[in-house]
Amino acid sequence: MKIDVSDIISHPGAKKELCLKLAEPLEGLSLEGPVDLQLEIVSGGRGVLSVQGTVKAKVFLTCSRCASQYCEPIEAEVQERFYPEGSRELEHEDEVGLDELCAFPYTEGELSLEEIARDNLLASLPYRPLCSQECRGVCPQCGQNLNEKACECGSAQEEIDPRWGALKKFSSGSPQ
Ligand SMILES: [Zn+2]
Ligand SMILES: [Zn+2]
Repeated sequence: MKIDVSDIISHPGAKKELCLKLAEPLEGLSLEGPVDLQLEIVSGGRGVLSVQGTVKAKVFLTCSRCASQYCEPIEAEVQERFYPEGSRELEHEDEVGLDELCAFPYTEGELSLEEIARDNLLASLPYRPLCSQECRGVCPQCGQNLNEKACECGSAQEEIDPRWGALKKFSSGSPQ
């Protein structure tokens, strides 16, 4: 989705507020439902635009413990600066790097919302996704997903929750 910003570009201080849902797929992200965008675009003069606000989406992630797919709501803060294609700031791209400038080129008075949504969501994904804080992971020996059921390799179970081990000792505490 492209947003026409030609009406504010040449008026420093002019603003545009956006509150919309983006249904287009975003490369590298698997989403449930649309992306919620709440953005304020402010014209800074000389074609520079600052964009700030929030991006929200439900993202399918793979649990880092049990490898199952689950959905997590992700909220990202947006704070970007856009320069018109061919502007002086962008000419020094090679020296500074676009990322460091936190700048993106835009063309013909249009901003790409997919780019804003995608970059900010990707940057806000958890480093180690967990389907739940209590996820028991998979058994390192047989590969059984221990959230679904326990496996036959008893030692693995005791490692995961020491209370079970203590209980087992107690219940089999009869003289041997
Ligand atoms: Zn998990
Ligand atoms: Zn096992």
